[in-house]
Amino acid sequence: MKKITIAIDGFSSCGKSTMAKDLAREIGYIYIDSGAMYRAVTLYCIENGLVDGKEINTAKLREAMKDISISFQLNAETGRPDTYLNGANVESKIRTMEVSSLVSPVATLDFVREAMVAQQQAMGKEKGIVMDGRDIGTTVFPDAELKIFVTASAEIRAQRRYDELKAKGQEASYEEILENVKQRDFIDQNREVSPLRKADDAILLDNSNLTIAEQKEWLMKQFELVISD
Ligand code: C5P
Repeated sequence: MKKITIAIDGFSSCGKSTMAKDLAREIGYIYIDSGAMYRAVTLYCIENGLVDGKEINTAKLREAMKDISISFQLNAETGRPDTYLNGANVESKIRTMEVSSLVSPVATLDFVREAMVAQQQAMGKEKGIVMDGRDIGTTVFPDAELKIFVTASAEIRAQRRYDELKAKGQEASYEEILENVKQRDFIDQNREVSPLRKADDAILLDNSNLTIAEQKEWLMKQFELVISD
């Protein structure tokens, strides 16, 4: 069967990763979480003294880019890929509020985006890939055969992120998360390089009132429509 490229973009915490991961597993495609790559660069900044308060030392980060290697390895227990930064598994470290609050400014930097996009395009060369993010359908894979743009209200997205953190036993404040979600929406939509926007040929999905199972079924249908074309 022919392999295609699937781009799933949308706002923070709208369940893109869950749907992208589930679809990839079901159809035997590679799954790449592009947000995890920007999160890993952010973690590198935190761990290497490149952050002062909310300020990123961009000159030092530019220099350090050559020393940052990001990869993914399947976790046999969860059946999902974990993110590695310079050989270390950082999957849980990149999901903290500290990283969430710094990642959007890091992701506005043109040299960071250039490096990430080049890696993402190399990963998708052979097709058979589901990638989720903000600019996958517009910049990384503008020729993707299936593009989805996911959205849901900021309040619903914040509640989902809150429930997720709580379920992992992490401290969380709904108000703080809602503020972070809104802030990231704003920065992502208004940055100069590859701002978050729906590609003209992307299918819009508002999943505010969908269960995970309903969303999964909907996505599978979209995939089948493209593949049977
Ligand atoms: O998807 P996730 O919320 O983990 O992404 C973290 C951040 O990385 C986003 O808020 C956004 O600023 C940035 N990002 C991006 N381009 C992508 C994926 C993520 O700018 N393709």
